[in-house]
Amino acid sequence: MYCPHCGKEIADIAVICPACGTKVEKVIAPVEADKSSFWFGLLSFFFPIVGLILFIVWKDNMPKRAKSAGIGAIIGVIAGIVLSILLSVLISALSFMMSGIIAESTYYM
Ligand SMILES: [Zn+2]
Repeated sequence: MYCPHCGKEIADIAVICPACGTKVEKVIAPVEADKSSFWFGLLSFFFPIVGLILFIVWKDNMPKRAKSAGIGAIIGVIAGIVLSILLSVLISALSFMMSGIIAESTYYM
């Protein structure tokens, strides 16, 4: 590696640059590789709140993984809204049909 201060090539294990005496900060490789994750996307799909939290936590260090969590959360929220709309439409349609049946049965009585 190279000294960030004077640019001289120094040993990778060096803590202090032998040429200028600057403390060399170790470049720590990220423990977890940042890659998009299907499973975190799926988790976020079912638990959008979790996805949102993961997105906030990861957005700086692991943008790709954060993105998959964020997209999962968004899709989960949209799916939830669509599902609740469909459900309410279905329920109102059912109740309409039921009232129709009841009205019909009372008509013939
Ligand atoms: Zn140096």
